[in-house]
This record gives sequence, structure tokens and C-alpha cells, in this order.
Amino acid sequence: MASEEDDYMKRMVDALRSGAKMLSEQCPICKSPLFEINGQLWCLKCNKRVIKVHGDEEVGEALTTYTLSQTHEILAAKIEEITVQLSRAVDVEEIRKMAETLSILLKTLEQCVKLKEELTG
Ligand SMILES: [Zn+2]
Repeated sequence: MASEEDDYMKRMVDALRSGAKMLSEQCPICKSPLFEINGQLWCLKCNKRVIKVHGDEEVGEALTTYTLSQTHEILAAKIEEITVQLSRAVDVEEIRKMAETLSILLKTLEQCVKLKEELTG
């Protein structure tokens, strides 16, 4: 039976054979070296694609489209909730706070959509 380590070695050998590059950068989760495969960053240990935003700033974890879809759903639900609350609000300070929150949520949603496009595109 092949151990996890054997699987990892096999993925590395296969990747290098097919022209992947081993990078000096590390996986944010397991600290293994990352590989560049067809212009995408991969951690072969986690067997996940790693997405980077804003140059060297790493997303805290190797993101999957599944995670992002969940994030997207939650953000959309929160935006809906706050929009309903906002329609009922009368206090100016309350409205200001809600508008601020909405703005942050919408920006986050936009980033989420962008990342999803990068992953799937
Ligand atoms: Zn990893």
C-alpha cells in the first residue's frame, strides 16, 4: 500500500517530468515547496492549487472553488440581510454603519468572485 509520502513523491516526479518548476516559495499550509504547473501555483503535498493575491501577499490557505462558493453564498446572504435592515433604519448613525458594512461586504464579494474566476478560468 502506498503511503501519503509515496503519493507526494510520485506527484512531484510526475510534475517535474511534465515540465513543472519547483519554486522557492512555500505552501502557506504545510510549508512544502510550491510548484508552477501551466502557470498556476500548486502544493503537491496538499494536492491543492495555491492562489496568491497582490503579488507576494498570500491568501491564508490554499483556496478551493468549494470554499469560495461557500464564502460567496454567505456574503450574498449577509448583504441581503443588511439591505432589509437598512430599508427599515431611521437613525442616521445606524444607516451610516450599515452602509459602511455593506460597502465592505460588496468589496469582499467582488474579491471572492475575482478569485473564483482565477481558479476556474
Ligand atoms: Zn501544502
